[in-house]
Amino acid sequence: MVRLVIKVGSHVLTENSTIVKERMMALVKFVSELKEYNYEVILVSSGAVAAGYTLLPLDRSSVANRQALAAIGQPLLLKMYQEKFAKFGFLCSQILLSADVFDSRKATAYAKVAIDTLLANGVVPIINENDTVSIEELVFGDNDRLSAHVTHYFDAQMLVILSDIDAFYNKDPNCYGDAVRRPVVTHISAEELAAEHTPNNEFATGGIVTKLQSADFLMKHGREMFLASGFDLSDARSFLLEKVHKGGTLFK
Ligand code: ADP
Repeated sequence: MVRLVIKVGSHVLTENSTIVKERMMALVKFVSELKEYNYEVILVSSGAVAAGYTLLPLDRSSVANRQALAAIGQPLLLKMYQEKFAKFGFLCSQILLSADVFDSRKATAYAKVAIDTLLANGVVPIINENDTVSIEELVFGDNDRLSAHVTHYFDAQMLVILSDIDAFYNKDPNCYGDAVRRPVVTHISAEELAAEHTPNNEFATGGIVTKLQSADFLMKHGREMFLASGFDLSDARSFLLEKVHKGGTLFK
C-alpha cells in the first residue's frame, strides 16, 4: 500500500464565504477512489474559518476572530466530510495538530500510532491545524507546511497539493500570460524559496512560496510532492490512478 497525504487549500473548498459542497463532494469521491485503488489516504483540509463564517460572520481581518471562526467552523467542516464519506461507505476522523507536535519525538510517535491505527481500520484521518492554540498556519501557510510535516513524519511517500493553481510555472501565471508550466522539478533555488508570499484571496494565507518550501523539505527527505488543480481533479486522477502525468508539477 502506498501512503499519500492529500492537502486541499481553502480556495478550492470555499467561494463567496461559503464551503462549495460540489467541490468537497468531488474531493471525497476522489479520496474514496484512491482508497479502493489501495492507497492509504490522509487528508489535510483547510476551510474551518470559512465554514465558521457561514455561521457567524465575524470580521476576518483580526487573527483572534479567525481563531474563533476556526473553532466554530471545524465541527461543521467535519460534519460535512462525515456525511459525504458515509455516502461512499467510509468513516472519517478528526486530528487537530499544532506544528510543535513534530518538535517532540514522543508526541510525533503518539500521533503516528493513532494515524496508523485509523488507516489500518480503513478510516480517513482528516488533519487540520489546531488554530485555537497554534496560529502559525492560520496566519501564514494555509496548511502547506503542516502537510509537508505530516507527510514526512507519518511516513507517506507523497504529498498531493490540490490548489487553485494547476501547476508550478516559471513565473506567476495569474500575472504573466506567457508563463510556462514546469512538469518536473528536482531543485528549488534559494531565491525561489525566499520570494514574496503571494496569497490570492482573503482566506488563503499560503501562496506559491509555502508550497515550494514544502516541496523542498520533502525532496530533501527523499519524498515527493505533486501540485495540481483542486478545481478540476482530472490531472491528479490521471497521475495517481492511471499513472499518466498529463498536467500538474511533480517535485522529486
Ligand atoms: P491554494 O489554493 O493552495 O490556497 P494559493 O493561492 O495559496 O493556493 O497559491 C497559489 C497561487 O500562487 C496562484 O494562484 C498564483 O497566483 C501564485 N503563484 C505565484 N507564482 C507562481 C508560480 N510560479 N507558479 C504557480 N503559481 C504561482
